[in-house]
Amino acid sequence: MEDISHILAPLNEPQRDAVTATGGNRLVLAGAGSGKTRVLVHRIAWLIQVEHLAPWSLLAVTFTNKAAREMRSRIEEILQQPIGGMWVGTFHGLAHRFLRAHWQDAKLPQHFQILDADDQLRLVKRLLKELQLDESRYPPRQVMGFINREKDEGRRPEHLDDGGDFYQRKLIEVYREYQATCERAGQVDFADLLLKTHELLRDRPDIRHHYQERFAHILVDEFQDTNAIQYAWLRLLAGDRDNLFLVGDDDQSIYGWRGARVENIQSFQRDYPNTQVVRLEQNYRSTGNILQAANALIAHNPTRLGKNLWTQDAEGEPILRYAAFNEVDEARFVVDRIRGYVTEEGYRRAECAILYRTTAQSRLFEEALINAQIPYRVYGGLRFFERAEIKDAMAYLRLVANPDDDTAFERAVNTPMRGIGPRTLENLREQARETRVSLWQAARDLLASGNLPPRAAGAIGQFLDLIDRHRRAAPDLNLDGLANDLIAAAGLEEHYRKEKDGKGQDRVENLGQLVETAGRFHLELGDAEIEGENDALAAFLAHAALESGDTQADEFEDSVQLMTLHSAKGLEFPIVFLVGVEEGLFPHSLSADDPHRLEEERRLCYVGMTRAMHQLFVSHAESRRFRGSEDRPFPSRFLREIPAALVREVRAGGLSRSAAWGSAASLAPGTRQAGASWGAGVPEAGQGGGFHLGQGVRHPKFGEGVVLNSEGRGAAARIQVKFHGEGAKWLVLAYAKLEPLG
Ligand code: ATP
Ligand code: MG
Repeated sequence: MEDISHILAPLNEPQRDAVTATGGNRLVLAGAGSGKTRVLVHRIAWLIQVEHLAPWSLLAVTFTNKAAREMRSRIEEILQQPIGGMWVGTFHGLAHRFLRAHWQDAKLPQHFQILDADDQLRLVKRLLKELQLDESRYPPRQVMGFINREKDEGRRPEHLDDGGDFYQRKLIEVYREYQATCERAGQVDFADLLLKTHELLRDRPDIRHHYQERFAHILVDEFQDTNAIQYAWLRLLAGDRDNLFLVGDDDQSIYGWRGARVENIQSFQRDYPNTQVVRLEQNYRSTGNILQAANALIAHNPTRLGKNLWTQDAEGEPILRYAAFNEVDEARFVVDRIRGYVTEEGYRRAECAILYRTTAQSRLFEEALINAQIPYRVYGGLRFFERAEIKDAMAYLRLVANPDDDTAFERAVNTPMRGIGPRTLENLREQARETRVSLWQAARDLLASGNLPPRAAGAIGQFLDLIDRHRRAAPDLNLDGLANDLIAAAGLEEHYRKEKDGKGQDRVENLGQLVETAGRFHLELGDAEIEGENDALAAFLAHAALESGDTQADEFEDSVQLMTLHSAKGLEFPIVFLVGVEEGLFPHSLSADDPHRLEEERRLCYVGMTRAMHQLFVSHAESRRFRGSEDRPFPSRFLREIPAALVREVRAGGLSRSAAWGSAASLAPGTRQAGASWGAGVPEAGQGGGFHLGQGVRHPKFGEGVVLNSEGRGAAARIQVKFHGEGAKWLVLAYAKLEPLG
């Protein structure tokens, strides 16, 4: 008998049953931290080692590239062998792999390109202009959302009916034009990756049967966040093999706004009535207090499938709640605490996570971390491949791979400026539209026709020649060589070096980084991946488009983890700071009035809380500057939904080690005063300012008043005082001649 204890020993009984189950579909429906992902990983190991299935006969779908990488390495760790041929990835990643294998069947060019969200937006803008639709009536982002939503539901323009509505008719027209342009350029957007894959499986029984034969088991993590097309895709792949193993948690469905359908959980049980539902109820991640608080919060959602979660863990520390007096103070508090955990309690930096509702919130925490010289990583922020200079360089590479790529053409043709005027470009676009060809072809045609003014003809000729030259050279070059030559020949480096916004040097360094990345990518490409000459380049371009923010340069440095709540799904951290828990921000003001969206926000809060293993912090600011104006947000209703007995209010007075205000006036947050609606501050001894919020002061001219607020650093530090009879005033602290009272 084979030794299988390493697969089964680390599991409890219901987990073991699920891992070893035979015959029929399974749905593991269980709460956060109950070991769903662990079950999935161990089941794959079980299928390979005990049931002797070949890795290539298994298909595993996860939600992020990071999760897919982790899954692969955990399986390999358990099995002590590589599982190279196994399909593990995100829906998009797998669909891309599928289309690459079936490009001809899908009527795509062999090296089709992926259009990312930014490219998509540019294209939509261009089409709106061409169709003479006003951006204020047809906001490009909304138009793009319309197109994506329709695709996610499996609908092509020809399936849509405007119902006599003018506006709808125009939207459909943009969608149709958009699709035609993508097809001409051989481009596929994210939604199309899924839709095309689905159409191919649906319409081609031979291909469908091939994959149904091939995949003995299909395993899906985070099933609650699949959309219509993803679910349909799974059904086609499974056929009637009853080989689906899905795990999920309805309480963690957080992508409804992007078309995910939590109802898929019920649909699945209806579509496959022989499905066995497995429930896991023991949570292994969080302390008793954290779990109880999360359970209490989510109980406020009226529409749940309902489940119970318990832990053997000790109660642990209460949840710590901090009322910051403003957003700067909040960041300072969090960073102070992190420093304490790392230097005094032996935590690694990577064990501390800061989770927020919107990406814009990261900036203040980044600043505070930089000031404190603590390394950090932002996940899901502006990714390397999304930076302007990288996209510029990639546009050239894309043209080398496929000159008909209109989006790349638009981007590259005048970056850097090469004297091709707006008139000439308009001319090109019109020619492309009228003759239904790509911009590249239109440029060729116009050049050949001799109908261009000499200067424009010269500039365009040079541009076409630049790309052509590199197309010819590409097969003999490594990726890094190609990228390097192209960047130099295009004049990008010079262009950025001259840039005056202070970022020039950064950008040049990033271009260097791109060359290096390309080189590394080339080295790491398995032989299996390189089929044709141009294939390394195509693979690299796809990698760039699909890769989400989880590979920054300093991946291996121990660093504090910053991310949105959405990207924290499935992860866990010993110490979690849930920040900005305020009405308007969380729940987001866009969602607060809609009961469904409010429930989704609450699930998001549940996801955030259940990431914490040992200690959870929740914080909110009592004053927050946002887009230039100052708000006094209420603490989030979610905070009220956590039983008070599980929470301890942090009194900041004794904590402050660094000064939120710099040296001239160090107004560190201090003890909260009973009844005060905002946090109160206690000054650091010996520093210039010496005022705290709520403190009485006297001014030689305005008389007596109370300190309301503060901002700025050093010489710029200002303080807001409410004077009796005079109203509130902002004063520059260094000049105000304020005298403390009492
Ligand atoms: P989420 O819903 O957040 O995705 P999950 O249900 O997928 O959570 P896992 O991430 O698989 O949960 O497990 C949570 C934690 O509990 C992990 O650290 C995991 O290693 C641990 N764990 C799971 N099952 C057991 C077990 N039987 N014994 C000990 N630890 C376990
Ligand atoms: Mg999980």
